[in-house]
Amino acid sequence: MKYQDSQYNSKNQWNKVSIEPQNDNKINLGNERQRTEHHSNATKKSKKEKQQDNQASEYGCVVKGSNQHQLVDYPAGFPLAHPESVHLRAVHPQRMTAKFQESRDTVITFDSDFCSGNLSKVTKGNNKNEYFLWISHDSAPYLEDGYRTWFYFSVHGVPQGEQLTFTFKNLNVQSKLYGQGLKPVFRVLPNTQKKWRRIFTKVNYFINNEDQFILRFTHMFSNTPCETTFFAFSYPFSYEESQAKIDDIQTRFAAASLEKNLYFHREVVCYSIEGRKMEMMTISSRDGMLEEREAIPEDGVDTPCLYPEAQKEPARRPHQFDESKKVVIFTARVHPGETPGSHVLNGALDLITDLKSEQGRLLRKHYVFKIIPTLNPDGVARGYYRLDSLGQNLNRFYNDPDRRDQPTIWAAKRAVAQYATQYKNLEAYIDFHAHASKKGVFMFGNALPDNDRQADNITFAKLVAMNCLNFDMNECNFSEKIMSIKDKNGMSRDGSSRVALQKATGLTYCYTLECNYHNGKRINTLAPKLMKAQGHIEDETAVTDPNSKIYANTNSPPFTQEIFEDVGNAVAIAFLDHIGVNPVSRIPLSCYRTVENVRDDIMNNLAKYSAGQVNVCGVNHFSSSNTKVSKNYQKAEAPFLKKEARGKHSHSGSKDP
Ligand SMILES: [Zn+2]
Repeated sequence: MKYQDSQYNSKNQWNKVSIEPQNDNKINLGNERQRTEHHSNATKKSKKEKQQDNQASEYGCVVKGSNQHQLVDYPAGFPLAHPESVHLRAVHPQRMTAKFQESRDTVITFDSDFCSGNLSKVTKGNNKNEYFLWISHDSAPYLEDGYRTWFYFSVHGVPQGEQLTFTFKNLNVQSKLYGQGLKPVFRVLPNTQKKWRRIFTKVNYFINNEDQFILRFTHMFSNTPCETTFFAFSYPFSYEESQAKIDDIQTRFAAASLEKNLYFHREVVCYSIEGRKMEMMTISSRDGMLEEREAIPEDGVDTPCLYPEAQKEPARRPHQFDESKKVVIFTARVHPGETPGSHVLNGALDLITDLKSEQGRLLRKHYVFKIIPTLNPDGVARGYYRLDSLGQNLNRFYNDPDRRDQPTIWAAKRAVAQYATQYKNLEAYIDFHAHASKKGVFMFGNALPDNDRQADNITFAKLVAMNCLNFDMNECNFSEKIMSIKDKNGMSRDGSSRVALQKATGLTYCYTLECNYHNGKRINTLAPKLMKAQGHIEDETAVTDPNSKIYANTNSPPFTQEIFEDVGNAVAIAFLDHIGVNPVSRIPLSCYRTVENVRDDIMNNLAKYSAGQVNVCGVNHFSSSNTKVSKNYQKAEAPFLKKEARGKHSHSGSKDP
């Protein structure tokens, strides 16, 4: 099989694997025996945990924590069961619990034994209150030189007012990201601080004499020791949280479906290599809904494995819709550590599933949204940064995915192709990612040979920028060149979802949306939001208002979960502007006035682009245009607005909710 020569060697390495955490310091009570001696209460297992242990025993080891229920037991002979599934399900080198008896009354516990957790080893450091930390490679233990960037762990039992220093000893070099000012995030559960925030203190990093990248930060524990503080590389969004989000939408839609015009459907597209569900949601209204349900796409194989629940019960597939509605597909987390992608997707989802807003209603009325929140469920659940559990970068396999080696990509490609080719109703595909080096929030698109279609393609990205302070049109790229850039290992981006799916389907609107983990270079100037029916201006929120505290004294603030969600919100709004049905639009008060004018402007810039001028849809043009809009607006060049509405808007600029 393909991965055997280049990704990892053989099953022999499996035999060397220990699932226990490594402990080379006597104070570190990381294994069961030591834990029992020093803290007997901690080892008392609940009934649920005992059940989980029993269930896990069929795989020859104890898989701890809540991971177990996420796995599906493959039916005997299930065609997608990978030969390595059973081994993979047994090994969790990225999870551990370590206890340090600091005094008679103080036991400090480090824990990474939860969904998306990654911390493999802790020892006492050289200084008082310092701890040395190691994380697990992606796809450990088979990759000698895997990715080591995503960390996620908790600390419990630190006396109130104490400061601890964490020194990471084996991270990949991320000097650029931390040099730009990136800080890890933390939260304190169950009560003190549920929301993730960036840590308050400075982050230090350097490369030591042994060429290791060392990252160090200090944190003051101001909470009581009975609360637990979690730390992570970036705002987490685990596989379990993704499942819970789907549950929540399902519950809300079920509760409201009698009185509202709603359509919601969830289904398993396929199982991952380790047996986790890759789910797809269908979200729409019942307008244009047909009796017929979608067919199971042709597998091209004798042993069908797409949509496993529908293989026996075809009614488990969603309803089809007539030609009045277009399908929009969103996917995320092919790269598991790129959690900002999930928060952008959640921002879009929040508007699409908003049962109170007119924009939400119109999105459901005009589109059928197909959403796969987690393309790499194993990598996300395991706390990996970039790979899957076979050591593969799944976003390089879209050209020719193998149904056994890359089952989720194989299935996602067939799902997308069905709407493009069989039902011919696919309008757009966006895959949500995060970026460690290039600043800002931006899109990679494809270079389409037809100028008209290329103008359409770039226009959609510009509509997102015109709805979002933090989306940077100048960093977008629609060039031929970036469609085939090669990674260090020779894998090409022409195997990425955006490039390969465009080639396979001929889709015009096909993108990768990227967010830098830390910040951007600049913010946009937005035109006001015109409520068309009333002729009023809608107030800005803190995240969309350039005069709010968030944007004080900065060209681009450190990105927060809210900023990522606002990007997704803007993507959803752009789909309303795209078809001219946005009831609260910024386009009428921009210098362009109409989407057609936006497109004409892009068309003119296509010539510049062909001449190699990067500012094809650039920010200089964009900001100066919008500055003009603001001035025009101040000169009351929008006479159709009601007087009081203008007054209202002039105050909203200084509001800082
Ligand atoms: Zn990515």
